[in-house]
Amino acid sequence: MIRISKALLPVPPALQTAGLAEKKVLEAAYDAGTRSFIFKKNIYADKDVKNALIAVQHYKCCFCESKIGHIDDGDVEHFRPKAASRQAAGAPFIQPGYYWLAYHWDNLFLACARCNQRHKGNLFPLQTPGTRALSHLHSIEEEDPLFIHPEHDDPAAHLTFDNENIIPFHNSERGRATIEGLRLDRTELTQHRAEMLSVVKSLQDVIAIFPDDEPALWQEAVRILQLQQQLHTLEDHQYAGMFRAYFSKHPAPGSTA
Ligand SMILES: [Zn+2]
Repeated sequence: MIRISKALLPVPPALQTAGLAEKKVLEAAYDAGTRSFIFKKNIYADKDVKNALIAVQHYKCCFCESKIGHIDDGDVEHFRPKAASRQAAGAPFIQPGYYWLAYHWDNLFLACARCNQRHKGNLFPLQTPGTRALSHLHSIEEEDPLFIHPEHDDPAAHLTFDNENIIPFHNSERGRATIEGLRLDRTELTQHRAEMLSVVKSLQDVIAIFPDDEPALWQEAVRILQLQQQLHTLEDHQYAGMFRAYFSKHPAPGSTA
């Protein structure tokens, strides 16, 4: 997970027009006693919304950083669940959800189906459950969410990587909740991260064993490793969060992490 910045992008037109109008409809319905709502996917997952998220997230899941585009279009994920929320897996549903944020740009991200559908779903735990905003009449500013927000929070402050540098490790209670809730330590992910990191580790092994009388080969291996470090830590690269954590501990010779 790395920080995502949507701040420089204009809010997609569908959210500003139809989304804003629908928000008013939902709020009026709540005021009239409705507690269960129907949402319009053609607004929150409008092609302009999705394309903007794809551009800013480089087709990566906002949580696990897997590239989505080559196998799937990805889901438009609501950070605060729109229909109902849950404090923990298996806990009762809390209705309504954050219906007034269903079309809010700040609440939308691109996520893979595994993170969004299988693991996150309606989960949205708070450190203090009593502060949960239950309607548009409450303020989400009073809440203290446990999940790391991909834009408002810096994931690097909560997550690093351990155990051969492929398994997420938490630096905070929020980091722990995010790893556990979204299963960011699931086997399929750690295997894929390990495969990608193995190329870098092999280069470092080569550099470590080159004899002193072959400086040209050593320098070439170092040059390639430096390039790998530059490439893998870019925001558009898969698992940049893991590679940034790894290279901060094991920088290529002559580079600054
Ligand atoms: Zn994911």
